[in-house]
Amino acid sequence: MKDPAAVSWGRILRCGISLGAYSFTVAYEFLIRILGGKPKGSCVILNYHSIPIEERVKFARQLDIVVRRATPIAIDMETMPAPGVRSVGITFDDGFENFMSQAFPELERRNIPSTVFVILDALGNEFGTPDLLERVMSPEQLRAIPEKLVTFGSHTLTHPFLPSLQEQDAFKELLESRVQLEKMLNRRVVLFSFPFGGFTEALVKLCHQAGYDRVFTTLPYLAFANAKEFAVGRIRVDTTDWPLEFRLKIAGAYRWLPWAFAFKKRLLNSRIAASALGSRHKESAGQRVPHSLIRKSASDLTA
Ligand SMILES: [Zn+2]
Repeated sequence: MKDPAAVSWGRILRCGISLGAYSFTVAYEFLIRILGGKPKGSCVILNYHSIPIEERVKFARQLDIVVRRATPIAIDMETMPAPGVRSVGITFDDGFENFMSQAFPELERRNIPSTVFVILDALGNEFGTPDLLERVMSPEQLRAIPEKLVTFGSHTLTHPFLPSLQEQDAFKELLESRVQLEKMLNRRVVLFSFPFGGFTEALVKLCHQAGYDRVFTTLPYLAFANAKEFAVGRIRVDTTDWPLEFRLKIAGAYRWLPWAFAFKKRLLNSRIAASALGSRHKESAGQRVPHSLIRKSASDLTA
């Protein structure tokens, strides 16, 4: 996985284009206001992962920006953002233990609702990549978090790249994780987020069949184009984001990115097709499947 803190030309370019997109939006909304209208409401869903103890202060600063510049909302809302209102929803993928120790106290202090997407088999164990494994909350810790501010959603049983699975295996990941989580927490579980952001239209349909009310991708579209939106976009944020980058993200200025991703994919596919007769691109033509690791705790291994 790319290091989100690394400074690269790509990151600078994305930030620059988003600044341009933001300036255009501000000018457009100003025009609507001077003509006596109210711009449409907007909503951006943020996607955090781990909040290590040394990053807590930066995380708290980002929450202060959210509170100052937007209205925090719960992502299971059923109404559209009101005209002129900029809302922000906050989510955490993977259910790391530092959500409880670092993130939740800061969220609670500001009365900000959030949603945590948990991996059933990782609960009480370690999860991540071989070079960075982090502790995940246990079922007891999940149950200890007050229901008022935190909603739990499923992030599958084992965190696979779902598009690479057979349909029945993908359905098992979707359904069983939801059912087991409901039993464990004694709460309704109707939200889901795709591991690695990997999804297809067929998977979205399977999520419907598995009983979810709403599912979340990692494509940074504005959320809730309509109140019944089922597959909702999110933007990845990190505590290492530059302040300008973070402000642009919560303003929805990165919403052009999915079109850039699609364009890049089309370009790559056409290059692969053009070189299909040669052998130079054979390796890149095969799909690279991202993977992660769950390391069971010692007590589980001996059980
Ligand atoms: Zn994940």
